[in-house]
Amino acid sequence: MTFATTFITLYPEAFPGPLGVSILDRARRDERWSLETVQLREFGLGKHRQVDEKPAGGGAGLVLRPDVAAAAIDSVSIGDRPLIYPSPRGTPFSQEMAEDWAQGPGLVFFCGRFEGLDQRVIDGRQMQEVSVGDFVLAGGEVAAMAMLEATLRLIPGVAGNQASVEDESFSQGLLEYPHFTLPRSWENRETPELLLSGDHKAVAEWRNQQSEALTKQRRPDLWSASRNGPKLRASETDDEHD
Ligand code: SAH
Repeated sequence: MTFATTFITLYPEAFPGPLGVSILDRARRDERWSLETVQLREFGLGKHRQVDEKPAGGGAGLVLRPDVAAAAIDSVSIGDRPLIYPSPRGTPFSQEMAEDWAQGPGLVFFCGRFEGLDQRVIDGRQMQEVSVGDFVLAGGEVAAMAMLEATLRLIPGVAGNQASVEDESFSQGLLEYPHFTLPRSWENRETPELLLSGDHKAVAEWRNQQSEALTKQRRPDLWSASRNGPKLRASETDDEHD
């Protein structure tokens, strides 16, 4: 099945951008995923195809009109795909969200610009607001691409090596252990002897210790969450109700 993605944007020329290289490019050519862009401007009003207006109540900047946004959204065959509005006010994006989305039919992103989108279309089209972090970007394109890239690489057959996807940061709720490769000695820094020992059990234990120590030190929030047992994924909770 092809994972179908649509971006509604004022800047379709930004795509595929970084989604057009390496494993994601190959996967798109293999039809594991598809990319569609919808130019919001085409749904703008009047001679100038205006998409924005001054905010009601005053203040700085411009707001995307709900009628224009809705016309663009309604032109898309959304089907069962989640409609995502990247927004700093949204639910924080996470690896678990990527895992859930990767099991679905695809994603539709509405990329905001200016001060953002009129609240009535967010509510009226039941858009899911999702944030990529506590900072403010100029537009939703980079945020949407980051979320999509994290999702696509979890789709079987997209990443070259499924084991490496399963083994890395966050998939066990911990940060990943440090990596080493050749040369064994570089600028007087040595590869830990144990990694060269061929003792797979000892290597696994060392990596696990490193993961735990790094997580405790850098991300006490993740560490205490991991102590409270594995989190239920939305897909697992869904199964219980089916
Ligand atoms: N005035 C808004 C920010 C608008 S930034 C506020 O303070 O919340 C313009 C657009 O960039 C937004 O509509 C959104 O689509 C995108 N954007 C900015 N920061 C983002 C973030 N941290 N996560 C996801 N999208 C973001």
